[in-house]
Amino acid sequence: MLFQSINKNYHEFCIDRDEKLCINCKVCVRQCSYDAHYWDEAREKVEHDNTKCIGCHRCEALCPTAALNIRNKPSDFRTNNLWRPVFLQNIYKQADTGGVLLAGMGSPVDIPVYWDRILLDASQVTNPSIDPLREPMELKTFLGAKPKKVNITTGANGKPELKTKLTPQIELDVPIMFAAMSFGAINFNLHRAMARAATATGTAYNTGEGGLHKSLYKYGKNTIVQVASGRFGVHRDYLKAGVGIEIKVGQGAKPGIGGHLPGEKINDKVSETRMVPIGSDAISPAPHHDIYSIEDLLQLIYALKEASEYKAPVSVKIAAVHNVAAIASGIARAGADIITVDGMRGGTGAAPAMIRDNVGIPLELALAQVDQRLRDEGIRNNVSIVAAGGIRCSGDVIKAIALGADAVYIGTATLIAVGCTICGRCYTGKCPWGIATNDPKLSKRQNPDIAAKKLTNLINAWGHEIEEMLGGMGLNSIESLRGNRDKLRGVGLSDTELDILGIKHAGR
Ligand code: SF4
Ligand code: SF4
Repeated sequence: MLFQSINKNYHEFCIDRDEKLCINCKVCVRQCSYDAHYWDEAREKVEHDNTKCIGCHRCEALCPTAALNIRNKPSDFRTNNLWRPVFLQNIYKQADTGGVLLAGMGSPVDIPVYWDRILLDASQVTNPSIDPLREPMELKTFLGAKPKKVNITTGANGKPELKTKLTPQIELDVPIMFAAMSFGAINFNLHRAMARAATATGTAYNTGEGGLHKSLYKYGKNTIVQVASGRFGVHRDYLKAGVGIEIKVGQGAKPGIGGHLPGEKINDKVSETRMVPIGSDAISPAPHHDIYSIEDLLQLIYALKEASEYKAPVSVKIAAVHNVAAIASGIARAGADIITVDGMRGGTGAAPAMIRDNVGIPLELALAQVDQRLRDEGIRNNVSIVAAGGIRCSGDVIKAIALGADAVYIGTATLIAVGCTICGRCYTGKCPWGIATNDPKLSKRQNPDIAAKKLTNLINAWGHEIEEMLGGMGLNSIESLRGNRDKLRGVGLSDTELDILGIKHAGR
């Protein structure tokens, strides 16, 4: 008979401690939120327990003498292409617990990352490149419905003036926004840091489904407020507080699945903001219980426009699934101003691992199809498209825009900028980097000033890189690149993939 879990010794990571370098300062003991390091009274030295290590690398990063090295544990299993170690580990865990496997962050499964198989064009002789250091380069982006044509008149001062009345727009200095991450899933320090960084860089962050803390209302011009199925923290002032309103219908990491913020994460501040009792679970149902058709969605879109006195564009966020283009067409016709398409690699605080890894489609394919469908139907200008879900660098951003996006959301990259090592344990509430946690001790690991500076730097750095890439293509505005797929070429892709992406193969 087995008295312990079968997988007790099949842990994923090993802690290598160089005894010659270790000075027993106990930094690793204090920093590890999983108690993988401990002080051994009898031996009077720091010891560790490999089975508790989750591979967050916090101790390795902070050890003052570089005595630690966290490494993957070599496989304990016989090689088998069908029964790979992850399947054995999962079955052992479920045989122990009888529970659904949970996972955090985006899907790591080995499905093609099309960004890596798409290359950008560059100018040569006849269409010379532009030097962004010496010539103006326009990254300004407006999100919202655009008129079919604009009428311009000459103003009193002799300068051209726009005669056409535009519907409300979200004005961004750079086409990169911080993705929806709720207050509760991540802590207040990070929310404040995103609000400040969005303000400093002229972009927007998104409240996620957690409401907006009253001290953050002053950042409203750079805030998109979200309305999810749980309606947490949604009230009239909230809807008026932001520069845009987003209805969350789906999420790339868990299409068809609702949200669940465990009661342990509902502290007083989260409770006040979300309007749920301290310590009680906040569960968002999978569907909105007032949306069962496009007509229902239309009613909600107009109810929200009414609530904001028609001052804020309304976005609808959907997960990338097989018929995403048809869904997007319906959303555009229902009066949305913006559609956010969230690909299957989008991050999450918690999702059933089977859903995260087996449901949805990659952003690249979904985005290309949505843009094409709206163009074919002649309604592309009725909405802006925001791409989200696994955007890793400015190269991905510029390819997304050439595939048809107006702007992108970055979520996981935002968290990595402040220390996240994608350990995937966000659902435990013990984030070692002080991000996906409301534990007061752990949350202090994120200094909002430092985090805001890092996020500002990230957006500025990507903005500069986008300018350089645009210049290299002979373009001086991001608008000229939107949906300009002639600037893209695929490498090693099948005819079907090229057809869906709407691009030619390299060499053609
Ligand atoms: S932080 Fe480094 S030096 Fe300090 S006890 Fe841990 S391993 Fe030793
Ligand atoms: S946010 Fe924290 S818990 Fe989640 S993956 Fe990043 S480091 Fe791990």
